[in-house]
Amino acid sequence: MDFDPSWLLISLPVAFVLGWLASRFDIRQLRLENRQAPKAYFRGLNFLLNEQQDQAIDAFIEAVQNDPDTQELHFALGNLFRRRGEYQRAVRVHEHLLGRGDLSRSDRERAQHALAQDFLRAGLLDRAEAALQKLEGTRYENEARLSLLAIYERSREWAQAADVAQKLDESDQASYSTRRAHHLCEQATERVAAGDLPGAAKLLVAAVDLAPQAPRPAIDTANLQLRNGDANAAFDTLVALSDTAPLALPLYAATLQQAAVAAHREADALALLQRRYVESPSIDVLEAMIALGGTPSATAEAPDPAPRDGYIAHLAQQPSLVAASRWLAGERFEHEQFHPQVQRALDQATRPLMRYRCAACGFEAHQYFWHCPGCQAWDSYPPRRVEEL
Ligand SMILES: [Zn+2]
Repeated sequence: MDFDPSWLLISLPVAFVLGWLASRFDIRQLRLENRQAPKAYFRGLNFLLNEQQDQAIDAFIEAVQNDPDTQELHFALGNLFRRRGEYQRAVRVHEHLLGRGDLSRSDRERAQHALAQDFLRAGLLDRAEAALQKLEGTRYENEARLSLLAIYERSREWAQAADVAQKLDESDQASYSTRRAHHLCEQATERVAAGDLPGAAKLLVAAVDLAPQAPRPAIDTANLQLRNGDANAAFDTLVALSDTAPLALPLYAATLQQAAVAAHREADALALLQRRYVESPSIDVLEAMIALGGTPSATAEAPDPAPRDGYIAHLAQQPSLVAASRWLAGERFEHEQFHPQVQRALDQATRPLMRYRCAACGFEAHQYFWHCPGCQAWDSYPPRRVEEL
């Protein structure tokens, strides 16, 4: 077939017109998309303000698809996923951001911080720890150290907690010395459990140095001294503590009594306990006094009081069910054969009253905690039983 040049004359302008149309279409499409990106973004924002997070996420995903270079949208989307508890998606968004080569240093730190928050909220503490450690030297350093400290304390990794608290103590405005003393005491407790008493003693000396006013290092020191057979030293430690921390006496009254018996210094201990009891009556101090054979002051009605009369004197001051129960335990009833049953019921009723209660979260326990297992707060338990609060 012969080539007809007239076709060329017709097809060239047609191709030109088609090309022009195609380019117009592309430009219109681009303009449309550019207009759509902010529109979707604002729609997302609107949903967010109306607390419609599902719709906000859809709008932001659309906006991100239209404009994949926008970091702010990624941050907004990542934070939204985290707030909704969709941690895997939040992690994906923030890891995607971190994987980008064009991210500024500031945005990279921000993404790293956001990723650490994702892991923290998801409870993935190992991964959170690694992400937080990467924030050292950034503007999130202090916040990251606080989070790391919380992780180490929660998982009872006391050496690491001590390191982070020391860094915070050196850099932050707040003092962490009491908390650091607690970390040392926790490590000392572990040393005692492992049989390394000299190692524990060394840690406790450091704890006392860090927080000389705090009751715990002295109480733990006295317990260790008692365990080492040095009752005199234990007694002296607690006598000194009764001047710096008299309100905590109910916590160490029993140890003081044991040390006094072992060191044959009962009279000194009794005088001290009686003096402090007058200032601030407490069932623990009373029991220590009674254990030492201490008696309340003689009165006209009771010229020769027995130690157990201390409970009656206590009841005259406060209507304590615990004191009443303890007194009744030593009495003889008219129907003595029923006494054990009655006493058992009373003991059961008084058990919850002998608990300690966290002032921060209300968690109650028979054991006294320096670090609340409920809310992780330090020194949040008043040193008195529930009945005396
Ligand atoms: Zn608590």
